[in-house]
Amino acid sequence: MRSAVVVGAGIAGLSVAGALARSGWAVTLLERADRVRPEPTAVVLWPNGVRALRALGLGAGLEAIATPLPDGGVRRPDGHWLVQPRALPADRMPVVVHREDLHDALIAGLGERVELRTGVTVETVHAEAGERPAVSDGRQTIEADLVVAADGVDSRIRRRLAPEATVVSSGSAAWRAVIPWYRAPQLPDGQTVGGEVLGAGYRFVSASLGDRGSAGGSARGGIYWVATAAGAARPEPPRTQLALLRRWYAGWPAPIGELLDATDPADLVQQEIRELRPLPRAYGYPAGPGGVVLLGDAAHAMPPHLGQGACLAFEDAATLAALLRESRLPDAVTAYDRVRRPRAATMVRQARRMSAVLQARGRLALRARDAALGTLTPRLLNTAAASAAQWRPPS
Ligand SMILES: Cc1cc2nc3c(=O)[nH]c(=O)nc-3n(C[C@H](O)[C@H](O)[C@H](O)COP(=O)(O)OP(=O)(O)OC[C@H]3O[C@@H](n4cnc5c(N)ncnc54)[C@H](O)[C@@H]3O)c2cc1C
Repeated sequence: MRSAVVVGAGIAGLSVAGALARSGWAVTLLERADRVRPEPTAVVLWPNGVRALRALGLGAGLEAIATPLPDGGVRRPDGHWLVQPRALPADRMPVVVHREDLHDALIAGLGERVELRTGVTVETVHAEAGERPAVSDGRQTIEADLVVAADGVDSRIRRRLAPEATVVSSGSAAWRAVIPWYRAPQLPDGQTVGGEVLGAGYRFVSASLGDRGSAGGSARGGIYWVATAAGAARPEPPRTQLALLRRWYAGWPAPIGELLDATDPADLVQQEIRELRPLPRAYGYPAGPGGVVLLGDAAHAMPPHLGQGACLAFEDAATLAALLRESRLPDAVTAYDRVRRPRAATMVRQARRMSAVLQARGRLALRARDAALGTLTPRLLNTAAASAAQWRPPS
């Protein structure tokens, strides 16, 4: 039986560990935290991410927890439309999912055959020609035919194998929250949640997770919002961060103020946005009978403005699983690198362009910035949506 060690039990690690186990591999999943725990936020999955989850055999679970996300358009803080809402064909429509529901589906997908070890921090990786790949936490060394580095943006495995890829700040911070239905504001008739508002260096996006009446069903419902602001993460406690957000977004179109008012400081998840520059020179490193591959944020952490990080992680997992089914091991490692690097590079380039437009504050005069938002944003969003929609799992 072929064996794999997957390092990191985030979205990327859980999805690839389950896929390999379902293909008959003996999988050990190592996680440094004491518990495998998702963030209490949500994630938008574009058609490529949904297709990848289906290819991984997780489509049925997804249907029960996903809410379609119609195009709500893009506005300026004064309410002027930069991009009008459009009717999207079903195959272009993203969905939004509570991360805890997604996490439950991924855990269910592990089945009985994955050995999950928590509280294990991998310190080193061995990937030498002629030797079986292995990882070590300084106390024990675990060998396998394949090592999958899914250990996130700060990946130690990537630092050792691809030291040229550096983690840098993208120059902005993000705040996210899910307001459960019982605390969510009742909106006046005609006012909806959804869509995006773009200001100079600031952005606010919101989405409904299911319908208000659906609370208590199989999925966790509520209103998800994400706000990004140019600058560093804030050191103040969540209550002060929330007060700052209310100040920054004061006067923005409804229901942004109502959503911030209904948010409890305990709901708030703050994060500095970081990315890899340059990307690793390789995603696959043949070693001995198999090798090491980089997957998820460990391979291609990018600004989140296109909502593609998790989607690409699912693409990575589906691609790796398919290649391992059809090729011998060292060849599959090389093929994974060949297939995934150009794909990730394209999506990262688009995410960076979007990030540059969103942070145009100060670099362009106000009018030029608005013109850029009005013309560039729709083009970028369309190009990104088209690139995302194009992806098909390898047959
Ligand atoms: C504000 C924001 C909004 C986003 N919105 C979207 C969206 O709408 N759609 C989308 O597709 N993407 C989105 N993303 C991106 C997405 O969240 C990430 O790309 C995705 O979660 C990365 O998953 P991962 O498993 O690769 O990494 P992580 O989630 O970072 O998981 C890595 C795991 O490895 C473990 N680990 C780390 N080091 C070690 C070690 N040495 N030994 C053992 N274990 C280790 C960690 O504890 C962690 O559990 C967003 C990101 C942000 C910041």
